[in-house]
Amino acid sequence: MTIRGDWSLALAGCLLAAGCTAEPSAGQRAADWEARRTRMIDSQLRARGIADKRVLDAMQKVPRHLFVPEEYRSRAYDDSPLPIGHDQTISQPYIVGYMSEALELRPTDRVLEIGTGSGYQAAILGELAGDVYTIEIVPELAERARAALDAAGYRNVHVRHGNGYLGWPEAAPFDRIIVTAAPEKIPQALVDQLAVGGIMVVPVGAVYDDQIMTIVRKTDKGVVTRETLPVRFVPMKKRIE
Ligand code: SAH
Repeated sequence: MTIRGDWSLALAGCLLAAGCTAEPSAGQRAADWEARRTRMIDSQLRARGIADKRVLDAMQKVPRHLFVPEEYRSRAYDDSPLPIGHDQTISQPYIVGYMSEALELRPTDRVLEIGTGSGYQAAILGELAGDVYTIEIVPELAERARAALDAAGYRNVHVRHGNGYLGWPEAAPFDRIIVTAAPEKIPQALVDQLAVGGIMVVPVGAVYDDQIMTIVRKTDKGVVTRETLPVRFVPMKKRIE
């Protein structure tokens, strides 16, 4: 018999232990998820050059599987995006690590995220920054992410259902802005809501096959942009349907 599925590690360890029962305990399950996160960090993040210790620690800590729909939970730590319903996806772990590192977050930063999706990236931001404001255009996803973030205890993450093209003017300016859906061009409202000295990370491009991760720095002399990585994000919707 081959042992497969979620609890393979816990069970494999269990079979060796004296007096073990077939059902893994809560402690064994937690240890299994923890071990999967460690492997994700070593093989997907560190191996590809993500080195920021705060980012790696946050990704070791946040239970990504709790932000993934039940039926995909066993694949939560795979090296890929996963469906979250409504034709949307939770980003691949590497992309979350890459964008989080590129933001150069400080513990007191006020951060705006466009595209809450599952709420996972927002939880990582909640670990690394001060207050996090996140906007989602699909009401059901905003609801579900809010519940997942509440359950995980992120009191500093504020979720709003709305159109990210408009930003969140009442909470501006933001030290950092992260956009996790792809606009055709960098939205001007977001540049306006970025503080001087601030950084925005945004995948830009109208065509799914031709998008580029873009890092925007706002200085007192103007805006400087740098293009880094070719990426594939879902398109940013222009209006609420
Ligand atoms: N950051 C997410 C992944 C986002 S997928 C996570 O960690 O899971 C992109 C999300 O952007 C989708 O949920 C999509 O509904 C949302 N989106 C698309 N256009 C938007 C817009 N104009 N304003 C706000 N959210 C938008």
